[in-house]
Amino acid sequence: MTAYQGTTPPIRLDSSVQLMLGKHLLTCFPHEACGLLLGTAAAGGMLISNYVPMSNVAPDPLHAFVPDPREWVKGLYSEPAPIGLFHSHPSSPPWPSAADVQGLSSLGPQFKVYLIGSPGKDNPELPVLNGFIIDRQRGTDGSLSQQLLHTQLYALLK
Ligand SMILES: [Zn+2]
Repeated sequence: MTAYQGTTPPIRLDSSVQLMLGKHLLTCFPHEACGLLLGTAAAGGMLISNYVPMSNVAPDPLHAFVPDPREWVKGLYSEPAPIGLFHSHPSSPPWPSAADVQGLSSLGPQFKVYLIGSPGKDNPELPVLNGFIIDRQRGTDGSLSQQLLHTQLYALLK
């Protein structure tokens, strides 16, 4: 049984954030882009209202991302609170890799949202975004297991 009992809450995205993610993805191409998603998390769903782009300092930025540690620490104190992580897959579809799932263990419990973006297949300027909820389960032996649950992503037009 998951923490959400089968109903994965949707992720709502301010349209300005959608724009920022797309721009950052394209600016960093062919490197992976990464950054923090700020907003509010509630039982009924997540609302992403801002984005803090970060430098990718991975040794192999074409195939991995490591947010700059100083930007990361600073970003953790941003307002509204960081509730998620974004990164891009410049040359593969926006689905979690094995490394992405492994990396979840380095994210604190305040991280609830996980977004992955890729350049559009037909039109690179129209990025494709996938949204996931970070689901954490405590096993009977006390071990923590984490997974990414695909969920609906809405861009809010206003
Ligand atoms: Zn990835």
